[in-house]
Amino acid sequence: MVHVSLESISKVYPNGVRAVQPTSFNIEKGEFIVLVGPSGCGKSTLLRMMAGLEEITEGDLSIAGRVVNDIDPAERDIAMVFQNYALYPHMTVYNNMAYGLRNRGMGKTEIDKAVKEAATMLNLTEYLERRPSQLSGGQRQRVAMGRAIVRSPSLFLFDEPLSNLDAKLRGQMRIEIKALQRRLGVTSVYVTHDQVEAMTMADRIIVLNGGRIEQIGTPAEVYHQP
Ligand code: ADP
Ligand code: ADP
Repeated sequence: MVHVSLESISKVYPNGVRAVQPTSFNIEKGEFIVLVGPSGCGKSTLLRMMAGLEEITEGDLSIAGRVVNDIDPAERDIAMVFQNYALYPHMTVYNNMAYGLRNRGMGKTEIDKAVKEAATMLNLTEYLERRPSQLSGGQRQRVAMGRAIVRSPSLFLFDEPLSNLDAKLRGQMRIEIKALQRRLGVTSVYVTHDQVEAMTMADRIIVLNGGRIEQIGTPAEVYHQP
């Protein structure tokens, strides 16, 4: 079943830079798509258009059969995880995860349940009262994941989430994120420049170059061509 559909989506920035040429593809429900390509090829712009953080110049973006071009990011049923974690430094881990839910008017009991479930999944239970500055890089990234998970989104968007971590931790987090995504069955779009992440996490890889799709296929198709 198609979950996300891009129909001739393009982006021209106000300064005239054409970051994404008209691009079309479908993402199946539960699929893990990895976007790769050289710096400046348009990965981040494409992801940010899906997130509603960047206006779509032309084309239609549909999520669950509904055109969302003009729909507020908060109503798209998506969660985004960033490279720099974007945690609130003055808030505890618990409140970092609860914040968005409180804003949406969720009740205290329900919030508590959601936060504690996410904390259990992410091995954060004993860190709930700490602040981000008192956590390791991997733990901070888990909090960022937790903040995404508590909202039970139907779509995860990841913008190079592991690139600030050292190689060992990156390997570990890659396995954790993939396992969690499988378990939750959440459709995911993941931007990276790490070929190992692309090969091991993707159901399908999309290679962008100069704002166009250069290749699209399974890891085997993309990386083992004659
Ligand atoms: P990637 O994520 O693959 O590195 P980006 O999507 O960030 O690529 O950038 C694609 C192109 O758009 C680049 O040429 C970049 O310089 C340009 N670009 C990105 N953001 C902006 C912006 N806010 N204004 C103008 N040009 C931008
Ligand atoms: P602050 O970061 O301002 O000190 P608090 O830690 O006092 O905030 O928490 C604010 C709210 O979140 C309170 O309603 C509190 O009950 C709830 N809360 C915080 N941590 C937990 C926790 N570990 N379990 C349950 N509720 C919590």
